[in-house]
Amino acid sequence: MATLHAARIISSGNEILQGLYPDTNAQRFSRILLESGFRVISHAVAPDDASELRGILTHALGGCSLVVVNGGLGPTEDDVNREVIAQVTGRSLVFDERSATMMRKRFHARGIEMPERNLKQAYVPEGAIILHNHWGTAAGFLVPGSAEQPAVIALPGPPSECVPMLKRAIEKHFEELFPLRSIRYIHTLHLAMIPESTINERVAHLFNADPDSEVTLLAGRGHIRMRVISSAGDLEAARLRALRIAEEASSLIGADYIFAEGPENASLDETVLKIMQANGSTLSLAESCTGGWIAKRLTDFAGSSATLLAGFVTYSNESKTRELGVPAELIERCGAVSEEVVRAMAEGARRVSGSDYSVAVSGVAGPGGGSTEKPVGTVWFAVSGPEATHSLKLRFPGDRETVRMWSVNQSLDMLRRVLTGAPVTPEIPALIPPKPR
Ligand code: ATP
Ligand code: MG
Repeated sequence: MATLHAARIISSGNEILQGLYPDTNAQRFSRILLESGFRVISHAVAPDDASELRGILTHALGGCSLVVVNGGLGPTEDDVNREVIAQVTGRSLVFDERSATMMRKRFHARGIEMPERNLKQAYVPEGAIILHNHWGTAAGFLVPGSAEQPAVIALPGPPSECVPMLKRAIEKHFEELFPLRSIRYIHTLHLAMIPESTINERVAHLFNADPDSEVTLLAGRGHIRMRVISSAGDLEAARLRALRIAEEASSLIGADYIFAEGPENASLDETVLKIMQANGSTLSLAESCTGGWIAKRLTDFAGSSATLLAGFVTYSNESKTRELGVPAELIERCGAVSEEVVRAMAEGARRVSGSDYSVAVSGVAGPGGGSTEKPVGTVWFAVSGPEATHSLKLRFPGDRETVRMWSVNQSLDMLRRVLTGAPVTPEIPALIPPKPR
């Protein structure tokens, strides 16, 4: 029976506590440990102070199989980690000749004599496995665990040293130290323009369905990630377990909401570009309230020039008429934020640029400019293609930035739906149901 071991991470350094830099080591270790079959249950940051570290480390030894400590292995007075770890794990510090020789060699290679105080770095807790540092000076060490105590790994602070050292330690020693370690597999579903609460309602039971799987939702504005992490004795079993849950979620939520799946990183812009590149079709944009944001998202990708022919930022009524040929009379009669105008914008962009498809957006991003009929957050979208022009009105909550970001994702998703033949009007209203017209 494979075991999913719990692990804790402790970073040390006054600078982190003073907000000078973020604790990216903990973040990277978490990721590495997750992929190596561990469940990281806490991150802590200790100051460069022996008694504080002692307290934090003593507490951390409970309820887990592994503690990874980083930083504080240097030669200076405030580097207290090796002493504290030795003390808390009940071992004395012993001199390691090979570490000392390696350090001397490093100094000689740089043409300097090693300062005596650096010898402090060649001491390790008795019985510890030394983790040689091929990327810097301070060696790390691994104190093996016992029935009463988790294993403790000590690593130096610089990310360029501790990250490869942790990976190497896992490769070299974990087979033996944690023989029945679980393998974990991560499968991510990327969903567009669906409220988190709706996903929750539809798949609530999946969150606790399988004790060997963890399901989490990470919400963005118009892009929700559903992450399934499953563990098992081997990769294939873990993969199948995660896929089973993902498939059930997909059929309960509706496959057309899923724009990408598998890897953790995916975006609507990339998805749309890939579809269009595969079809060899071209695109133009007519943006009002998004002010060029959709164009920016698409042009972030090298090679987007084969797809995107033109992007018009037609912010004023005059520019809508001049650049896209939207009749001034239409804007006068219906208003710039209207179905008629957004359709004319989309059709105009297609005509002027000669693209196969076009997307147009016009809305009230706020904070001013709202009315009873068109409150702040009201946005009209249109996608025009060789067969038809589709239009849709939605209303988004939030401030200017939020409304605009939702609008960008909705535009890209609407285009994706047209390109893939999915229903253009989401079955579930994105946020605030549009009033029937
Ligand atoms: P040594 O490498 O001699 O053991 P140390 O481990 O105490 O020293 P520091 O001197 O505290 O390491 O940090 C060295 C550098 O490593 C810092 O300037 C910082 O850029 C980086 N660093 C240390 N800890 C972290 C952390 N938790 N996350 C990200 N970067 C870190
Ligand atoms: Mg330090």
